[in-house]
Amino acid sequence: MAFGRFIGQEVASSTMPVVKLEHVSKQYPTPAEPLVVLRDISLSLEAGQNLAVVGPSGSGKSTLLNILGTLDEPTSGAVEIAGVEPFRLPHAELARFRNRHIGFVFQEHYLLPQLTILENVLVPALAMGRTTAAKTGRAKELLERVGLSARLHHRPAELSGGERQRAAVARALLLQPSLVLADEPTGSLDPTNARAVGQLLLDLQQEEKNVLIVVTHSRELAGRMSQQKVLDNGYLRDEGNGQP
Ligand code: ADP
Ligand code: MG
Repeated sequence: MAFGRFIGQEVASSTMPVVKLEHVSKQYPTPAEPLVVLRDISLSLEAGQNLAVVGPSGSGKSTLLNILGTLDEPTSGAVEIAGVEPFRLPHAELARFRNRHIGFVFQEHYLLPQLTILENVLVPALAMGRTTAAKTGRAKELLERVGLSARLHHRPAELSGGERQRAAVARALLLQPSLVLADEPTGSLDPTNARAVGQLLLDLQQEEKNVLIVVTHSRELAGRMSQQKVLDNGYLRDEGNGQP
């Protein structure tokens, strides 16, 4: 079964990078010359590492995160996530791979309004076709970890913005993804909640030893992460030294 193959590859090489980009470029066609958004980006991150990506609006941060999240294909270059070249997978397998191996947190929480918080956190398990007692247990543990154990059976509308985003963090982690991607995860929150959600993402990354990549406008959050890179004219540079 195809799904077993992913797991087999993972087990076979536990020291491989979780994320490997080699010479990734992305351009969008326009009626005039193509719009080049990402140029020759190479990146390698191992389990337990985290990275902040900063850069002005329109610099390609979401484009880069979408490629890392296997939602968008690069124009050229190679992408490997958890030992798999995702863009070589057939469409249905790619969707399964993404659900299993990559957790997403966006600026908006995207919780489903008709489901309870516990059900929302279980959505990635439902997408695999089933929730088990173990998955429900994990969901409850995560919700306790993010401070929402008293809110399991509430609907998103009954929660504050910070609480909803904490539930979205728990949902992203349900299936123990090897890669967690967050695109402006604190961008809609007040400073106090932004701090709390940023710290939670980092603390959980340390506990679960996944790779966390956060796109953020918050210098404060970027400064708490172990690596910072900036998207500048399509190049991903180390912050501060101006070199690619
Ligand atoms: P950021 O997240 O840093 O604000 P984006 O990655 O969203 O930037 O966008 C980078 C550039 O690529 C922008 O100029 C944007 O207009 C352009 N862009 C993004 N998606 C598309 C698309 N599907 N088609 C054409 N241009 C796009
Ligand atoms: Mg963006």
